[in-house]
Amino acid sequence: MGSDLEIVDRPLALEVQKAAGIYALGAQTDDEFGESLTRLKRGLERLDIIIATVLVEGTDYDTPSYAGTYVDKDGTEHKKKNLRLPGAEKLALMARLVPSFDFQRLVGDGDTVPDIVYVVKCRLHMGSHDGPVVAEGLGSANTFETKYRYRYAEKSCPACGAVGSIRKSQFPPRGAEKGTPPGWWCKECKADFVKDDESITLQGAGKVDNPDPLDLDNTVLKMAKTRGFRDAVKMATGGSARLEQDMEDLPAGNAQPKAAESGQTVAQSPARAELVDRLFILAKDRGVTKFGDMFDHIRATNGILAGRMTTVIRDFSDNEIRSAVEAWEKK
Ligand SMILES: [Zn+2]
Repeated sequence: MGSDLEIVDRPLALEVQKAAGIYALGAQTDDEFGESLTRLKRGLERLDIIIATVLVEGTDYDTPSYAGTYVDKDGTEHKKKNLRLPGAEKLALMARLVPSFDFQRLVGDGDTVPDIVYVVKCRLHMGSHDGPVVAEGLGSANTFETKYRYRYAEKSCPACGAVGSIRKSQFPPRGAEKGTPPGWWCKECKADFVKDDESITLQGAGKVDNPDPLDLDNTVLKMAKTRGFRDAVKMATGGSARLEQDMEDLPAGNAQPKAAESGQTVAQSPARAELVDRLFILAKDRGVTKFGDMFDHIRATNGILAGRMTTVIRDFSDNEIRSAVEAWEKK
């Protein structure tokens, strides 16, 4: 009987090979090849010039401590840059590339599948929107990313009513009998409480689901769009050799594929995952965008001598990370 297979008029593999790749390279005349070689080299040199003279560190890119290095044409070694959105926009502008976007919006149950997932494809066109496509990039974002999924509920003070002011104390309440275990204290009114004071222990605290993930719709779309655009710019400018993965995109704790690539493998137990998540969130709140600065904070908090250098968070114990988190929470 007839099959459902469709016959497609498609060039044979060999013909495709001849049109591109190594065959096409071989088909060029020496002059043509020389010309494309010159252009490629000049393009990369100009990319270096743009990075050095136009892009501003801190705005257009930053230099993460975990970044790899590259060598420019003068043999000078540089750390790879972590391209931010404004930097990507400038590179696209200088290369006369115009982006267009397609997106897919997926809706989940918010329980096993994120409430909202956006997948954005960015195309960079030469000259204008109807120009030929030079590169494509993909970006996605979803409401299960730690920074969107949770907020941190904090305990309020029964004495002064301040919200989120209760901290675990390292000391027993003032005037308590010797041997009383450490309790709680309010960083606003300085009141202290015993360990099992129910006006505090019965309050919810810790990581709670964001009450309304749908509020994040636009935020998640923008994030996916930004990621897709930056990906496309990297492709178009052949900049991967010079441009590094963004820490902002590195999920803390749970999903770690990108983090793993840069050696930031984290979080085996759920408890550790939560600690590391919390550390990343506090770091971000404090404008700390470099792993190196975060590691300095962990070292400083734990009195670790600078001699113990590391570029990976797994070198720190749970307790060391916990102290660093607590130190930031107290400030
Ligand atoms: Zn208080």
